[in-house]
Amino acid sequence: MTTSDSSTLVNGIAQERRLVTAIPGPKSVEMQKRRTGAVSAGVGATMPIFIDRAAGGVVVDIDGNSLIDMGSGIAVTTVGNSDQGVVDRVTEQVAKFTHTCFMVTQYEGYVEVCEALNRLTPGDHEKRSALFNSGAEAVENAVKIARVYTKRQAVVVFEHGYHGRTNMTMAMTAKAAPYKTGFGPFSPEIYRMPMSYPLHDGLSGPEAAAKAISRMSKEIGADQIAAIVIEPIQGEGGFIVPAEGFLKDIVKFANDNGIVFVADEVQAGFCRTGKWFASEHEGIVPDLITTAKGIAGGLPLAAVTGRAEIMDSVHAGGLGGTYGGNPIACAAALGSIAAMESQDMNAKAVRIEEIMRPRLEKIAEETGVIAEVRGRGAMIAVEITKPGTHEPDAELTSKIAKGCHGEGVVVLTTGTYGNILRFLPPLVMPEHLLEDALTIIEQQFKEALA
Ligand SMILES: *Cc1c(COP(=O)(O)O)cnc(C)c1O
Repeated sequence: MTTSDSSTLVNGIAQERRLVTAIPGPKSVEMQKRRTGAVSAGVGATMPIFIDRAAGGVVVDIDGNSLIDMGSGIAVTTVGNSDQGVVDRVTEQVAKFTHTCFMVTQYEGYVEVCEALNRLTPGDHEKRSALFNSGAEAVENAVKIARVYTKRQAVVVFEHGYHGRTNMTMAMTAKAAPYKTGFGPFSPEIYRMPMSYPLHDGLSGPEAAAKAISRMSKEIGADQIAAIVIEPIQGEGGFIVPAEGFLKDIVKFANDNGIVFVADEVQAGFCRTGKWFASEHEGIVPDLITTAKGIAGGLPLAAVTGRAEIMDSVHAGGLGGTYGGNPIACAAALGSIAAMESQDMNAKAVRIEEIMRPRLEKIAEETGVIAEVRGRGAMIAVEITKPGTHEPDAELTSKIAKGCHGEGVVVLTTGTYGNILRFLPPLVMPEHLLEDALTIIEQQFKEALA
């Protein structure tokens, strides 16, 4: 729904930014004390508030503050919180049965989600899918599958890449603090290659690819590599969009050398960038694709989808897990996919970019502390640097983010140097709220620099 009428209701929740207490309010402050006494300090939180309800473009906290959600719970509630189709399907499923374990007695929802994934992912070759619980689990399973298929061990990942927090995916993730610090030893046979990062490497896509390919050939050996795993647009790394041609050349190198090319679309997939999958912007066809986050409207679900001969090369029983493809999560995924198709969510993501990019570019021009506005669709970020340089300014980034939080706009920071302010609004974000959020963001840049 897009309207400038701020009295619009979604699921009975007014689509407005409304602060009735300081952020955090007294109830959240109380709850934060309970949280500290009960929850491990190792679990972080961007904001010290607690949510009561959420729908459309807002989250409402227990003090009654309504905040604009520019994070979607990290690119998860792409179709919005509690989308009616998701709620209906989940409600129906939870009343029928909650779990049998697909590896024990099977059900249609799992098959239907796999069919949808096989249909929607790039390429018209024969495909198969397998379902898991989290993005990290999907990535780790993609590596397992690639190793069995190729009978090789080496796995190539890229600088600034993020693939999760399990032991293998920690090794695959680039950034040490907070993801890896103290948690070693890490899984072996993971090799990190330079990523195309046009703002900083000054290389064209083919040049950056040639550099990575030369290193793979010389330092690992092409015939030793099981899989190349890459995010077509890096998420946690800072919404880094590789220069055009980079991905294509890496895919060609993989194809020429019997290497399984894995696109980690956990953050960029499912309409986030204005296409079903970010790989489509470059016209590449991955051998395997990992998905999670936006797939199921907030319920935990993840998948590996890819070429039938690769996916079917694994011995029976080699893949799975107690909860993977849980029937309620599958119902939510089918509801989310139906919403994406019926409401043309790709067009919504494109529209969000049309509104955001010019306003962010104007802030860049006026403040001189944004080295680049980048991303695609509703996956947009600004890289914040010391004026006139490419030197990261994490302190300013954090100050602006905190300023936005205080004014009722949920924004996230990210990047290897912590100097990326990133935006991942739900695709159902009403336009008047998006504009309001941008006004607050603009004000907070000016205030932080005053
Ligand atoms: C979030 C993310 C993961 C890990 O997903 P979890 O569900 O948190 O395990 C993996 N890859 C990418 C690209 C991600 O953004």
